[in-house]
Amino acid sequence: MIVDFREFETFPAHKTLVADPEKISLDFDGVHAVEEAKVDLAIQKSGEEYYCQGEVAAKVTLECARCLALFEKELNNSVDFIVCSTDMHDAHRKEALDHEDYVLLDHLQRADLTEIVRQAILLAVSLKPLCSEDCKGLCAQCGKNLNEGPCGCETEVIDERWAALKKLAPTRQESDKKQGNIDGTA
Ligand SMILES: [Zn+2]
Ligand SMILES: [Zn+2]
Repeated sequence: MIVDFREFETFPAHKTLVADPEKISLDFDGVHAVEEAKVDLAIQKSGEEYYCQGEVAAKVTLECARCLALFEKELNNSVDFIVCSTDMHDAHRKEALDHEDYVLLDHLQRADLTEIVRQAILLAVSLKPLCSEDCKGLCAQCGKNLNEGPCGCETEVIDERWAALKKLAPTRQESDKKQGNIDGTA
């Protein structure tokens, strides 16, 4: 995702870039592949710097955290960064507390936006991607994907030892419910 900043003559300038998905590899749990990625940029020039704002849109294949099935999802995120020469960047760095994102121009006034776009996509991936909010997950006993239908396993194991344990320790859901009652009446 190389942009040649010599090509812009009037500002604000607009540019749409399409990434080579192979170069936007996301080394992140649950991300299987990036299918498409593009960024729409509005570029404003100020002195020797280019202020860039835009929207990143990507189509990624994620792995569901519950049922482990692969599914496609569109991710969107905004980007906001400054493109400048190394000299300008060093000058800025001398001013403390600088949290801006910078991309440095090479000697031909080109900048590589791959990392900016990669980070934007990464931030848009949730920590636990789900194929759907009500994904049923996998059967704990046979491993079947329960979104495809019931597996036939006994969901309640009838075993006296377990039954005795259940009496001692209410399930999480039950204790949550009790908690709710207490809050409600207080
Ligand atoms: Zn799922
Ligand atoms: Zn099962």
